[in-house]
Amino acid sequence: MEELCSFTFEELADWLERMGEKRFRAAQIFDWVYRKGAGSFEEMANLGKELRGRLAANLGFPLLKLVSTQDSKETTKFLWELRDGQRVESVLIRSFDRRTVCLSSQVGCPARCAFCASGKEGLVRSLSAAEIVEQALLIDRMLKEKGERVCHLVYMGMGEPLENYDAVLKSIRILNDEKTLHISQRRMTVSTVGIVEGIRRLAGEDLSVNLVLSLHAPNQHLRKKIIPFARKYPLEEILAAMDFYGEETGRDITYEYTLLSKINDGEEHALELAALLKGKQCTVNLIPYNPVEGLRLERPEKERVVAFREILESKGIRATWRYTKGDDIAAACGQLALKKSSELTNFGVPG
Ligand code: SAH
Repeated sequence: MEELCSFTFEELADWLERMGEKRFRAAQIFDWVYRKGAGSFEEMANLGKELRGRLAANLGFPLLKLVSTQDSKETTKFLWELRDGQRVESVLIRSFDRRTVCLSSQVGCPARCAFCASGKEGLVRSLSAAEIVEQALLIDRMLKEKGERVCHLVYMGMGEPLENYDAVLKSIRILNDEKTLHISQRRMTVSTVGIVEGIRRLAGEDLSVNLVLSLHAPNQHLRKKIIPFARKYPLEEILAAMDFYGEETGRDITYEYTLLSKINDGEEHALELAALLKGKQCTVNLIPYNPVEGLRLERPEKERVVAFREILESKGIRATWRYTKGDDIAAACGQLALKKSSELTNFGVPG
């Protein structure tokens, strides 16, 4: 079955035409879905009964069913069930009047970073474009009831976005469209573990989305230990691809560095990192490790984080840090874990 939210506006019009319907129906359907909050084709009153029946029989919508939500002061975590019974999570982050949705791009993750709950079981499957779009759409609908809107998107939930390239790109284009949520590309951020060909390909798409590399180590040797997946790509090639992305798009590059006590948080690591990034137009975002159940890793003391940052700054590398929001409900970076129905009662605790 085709999926409604995987269609761009033009694609839906083409599809309708192939079905022997009028192209202008696409505008009515988009209006129902992205403006009026329709929960089914049945509600689309200006479409004839017969057409509504054909749409329902041929186009999957909605694909996501909300299982539960969990609130903390600044975040809300949403657990969704997909049509095949798999589950994914999204996180809404509130910061002043900014509403950011952290999107999942896959069920599970192939990268298997040592500190992350999402990849513990490996990759189950990639999400379709519609399954990504609906995360933002359904959260936006809930916000609208309070007079709020989603204005920023980060592809930092479960999964590796560039390992699901086509669906992620499609979701960016759909969510950017003025007929849908109309979120500016400059307010979208894709985070990658470093897929060289994916970064280079994205640079050629004529987009202005921000790109973040999850770096986590100042050299390939240590990086391979922290991110098994990184074996496939020499660090120099990844950094060259990131530079290329910056040149092609004019966007600033951010390097994310999860600080793990006694593993990558030493003075020598900070100095080596500063040397590695010397002369680059970039920001390093330091994320003190968020605890994941079952992992024997530790979050560095605050003084360590501050010292690490000071070394980078003293070498002319811009660096930011803060403890992540949402760690009290396991909604912070790396805390989104695979959920099976048997774990439902355990919701919120990474399994
Ligand atoms: N696969 C993509 C996107 C998902 S991870 C990537 O690797 O970038 C999003 C960010 O959260 C990454 O920078 C990741 O390293 C970080 N992260 C994951 N687990 C974490 C944890 N336990 N503590 C702190 N940051 C974590």
